[in-house]
Amino acid sequence: MRILLQFPEGLKKDALAKALELENEGHEVFLSSSACYGACDLPLEEANSLRIDKLIHFGHAQFIRRELPFEVEYVEFHIKVDVGKLSGALPSLMGKKKIALVTTIQHVPQLGEMKEFLEGHGKEVLIGTGKLACYPGQVLGCDSGAALSVASGADAILYVGDGKFHPTGIRSELPVFALNPYSGECVQLNLEIEKIGKRRRGAMLRALECERFAILLSTKPGQFALNLAQEAKRKLEGEGLTAQILVSNEFNPLSIANFREFECIINTACVRLAEDAEMFGGPILNASDLDEFLELRRATNKD
Ligand code: SF4
Repeated sequence: MRILLQFPEGLKKDALAKALELENEGHEVFLSSSACYGACDLPLEEANSLRIDKLIHFGHAQFIRRELPFEVEYVEFHIKVDVGKLSGALPSLMGKKKIALVTTIQHVPQLGEMKEFLEGHGKEVLIGTGKLACYPGQVLGCDSGAALSVASGADAILYVGDGKFHPTGIRSELPVFALNPYSGECVQLNLEIEKIGKRRRGAMLRALECERFAILLSTKPGQFALNLAQEAKRKLEGEGLTAQILVSNEFNPLSIANFREFECIINTACVRLAEDAEMFGGPILNASDLDEFLELRRATNKD
């Protein structure tokens, strides 16, 4: 069998061992060396050029559910942590009874244990379900549904995991805490989440001055949203604005900046791209914000 292996950056160190293991089983093996940003990001170009029989994507849970001309296997990566470290969150959760608990794929298998730990400390734990994530309680950078779907019944949201990328994607008025399960450190992230919200509103205000829009359409299989991009183009043109769709697998800020006529970017790719507005040098709005922006624009024009 001809197999292509794909690893996210943090797991590329394990690639050689896995490749040799499969070769010893008699398979023909190739390693994708493209950057890999998430479960949405399968290396279609390499896969098609090589006419592979199978792609093995390491590190993430299943994301792409549509048929591809080759078999796709997602191999999840789990890290067992000391659930006792959740005690680091208890002072922050004092006075908060109902906790929406979320984590990343690395720790999903221990979600039940984490729930029990918190329940043992008098908490009621709510575990919601996202739209794109594979498991209840699992968040992705682009899918906070596991938190938001139960937020109305919760007093606080607790994210267990390393880093801030996932929990700062949780747009909620509730207190959002991130507990690092290695150090036991717990931090509240509402100020950072608010900052992202403010930047989004700032981008909208700056976009009011713009006439020419570039719409980003990514060919990554989990981000490709042609209909959304075409709809955005129609909506912008319907308002008398100029819009063109820019298509690429990955968006390089410099290549985009060279399209000098465009003043504003509408993003249909990974929603977290909009947080890199400084790199792109102009306002970026996610396609999901377009209706709100156009309404604001109409209201502003009337005044
Ligand atoms: S779309 Fe963005 S946030 Fe979602 S899985 Fe892909 S890289 Fe991660």
